Amino acid sequence: MKAFQFTKNGEPISEYEITKPKPCGKEILIKTIACGVCHSDVHIHEGYFQLGEGAKLPVPLMNDALALGHEVYGEVVEIGNKVKNITIGKKYVIYPWIGCGECEDCLNEREHYCSPFTTRNIGINVNGGHAEYVLVPDEKYLFDAGNTPDEIAGSYACRGLTAYSALKKADLKKGSSSVIIISAGGLGLLALKIIQAAYSINPIVVDIDDEKLLAAKKAGAREVINSKDINIIEKINALTNGGATSVIDFVGAQATFDIASNMFGLKRGGTYVIVGLIGGQSTIQLPLITVTARTIRGVYVGSLKEMDELMSLVRDGKIQHMDVEKRHISHANKTLKDLKNGKINGLVCLTHE
Ligand SMILES: [Zn+2]
Ligand SMILES: [Zn+2]
Repeated sequence: MKAFQFTKNGEPISEYEITKPKPCGKEILIKTIACGVCHSDVHIHEGYFQLGEGAKLPVPLMNDALALGHEVYGEVVEIGNKVKNITIGKKYVIYPWIGCGECEDCLNEREHYCSPFTTRNIGINVNGGHAEYVLVPDEKYLFDAGNTPDEIAGSYACRGLTAYSALKKADLKKGSSSVIIISAGGLGLLALKIIQAAYSINPIVVDIDDEKLLAAKKAGAREVINSKDINIIEKINALTNGGATSVIDFVGAQATFDIASNMFGLKRGGTYVIVGLIGGQSTIQLPLITVTARTIRGVYVGSLKEMDELMSLVRDGKIQHMDVEKRHISHANKTLKDLKNGKINGLVCLTHE
C-alpha cells in the first residue's frame, strides 16, 4: 500500500510503498477516505512543542518511519475473526487515542492519558491516515458518523473531541452570555458549533486575524474582538457584565494567556481552560488565583466516553458541519507549512484519491 511518511522529525514527507497490514483477532483494517489535518500534526512532524525561551518538549518518539494522520475517516475492508459488530463496507471515524490497555489510566476510562512511552495513538505512535490503510486494534474505537460529510467526519476524532472535552471542563451554564473562545481557527470554529449545539451558548470570539473573526461571526459568534484592540478588556467587561465566567483558549501562547487572565475582571469562580499548544511561558500573581477562586485547567484530547457522547450529537445532526477544503495527500508537506504559517482558514482534509 502507499504511505506518505517521514523518517526523521522535520524531514519532508515522501511517498513509500509499505506492506498492507493484515487484521487478526479483534483487529479491523480501514481504508482511509479522508484524514483531517490538525495543528498538532505540525508539532508531531517537527518532534516537539515550544515551552518558551527556546525550551522544547519532545513529542514521542520516532523509532521508525511514520505516516501522520490522527483524524481518520474510512471504510472497513477486512476484519479479524473475533470482530463482532462491524460490517465490511461500512464507514467509521477512528478514535485514535489508544493506550496500552493495561495501566491504571487505561483501566479507568482514561486511556487518552496513557503514558507517552506505552501509548499506541494512531497517526502519532503508529501509522495513521497518511497511509492508504489503517489498522485499528478493536471495534470499540470505531464510531458511526451518520450522514456527516466524508471530509469533516474525521475532524471529530481530535479537534472536535478536544473542543467537546474543553467545553465540558469549562464549567458552562446553559445559555450563558459570558463565555469567551480564543481562536477563530479550525478548532475554535468547531468549538463554536459544538457550544451552540450542546449548551445553547453564542460566545464572544477573540482572534488576531480579522478574516478569521469574520468567519466566526458568520458561524454565529455573538461578538468578535481582535486581540490587538487596545480596549479589548473594557469591551469584554461591558459585554459580559463585569468579566468572563469561562475562557477557552485554543491558542495557548504567552500572549493569549496574559490577555485571558485579565478577561475575568473581578468575577470570582471563573474557569480558564487551556487547549492550544503554541507555547511560551508567563507569570501569574498567585493571590489573584486565590481571591478570585479561579480554576486553570489543561485539556488533552478527550476520553472514549466523551467521543461516544460527541458522536451521538454528530449522528443526531445537532452540530452544524463546516465546509472543509479537500487536498490530495501528496500535498501533505505544503499543508503542514500552510497550517504552521496561519495560512489556512477553516478546515482541511487530505485524501488518497
Ligand atoms: Zn495505558
Ligand atoms: Zn489533532
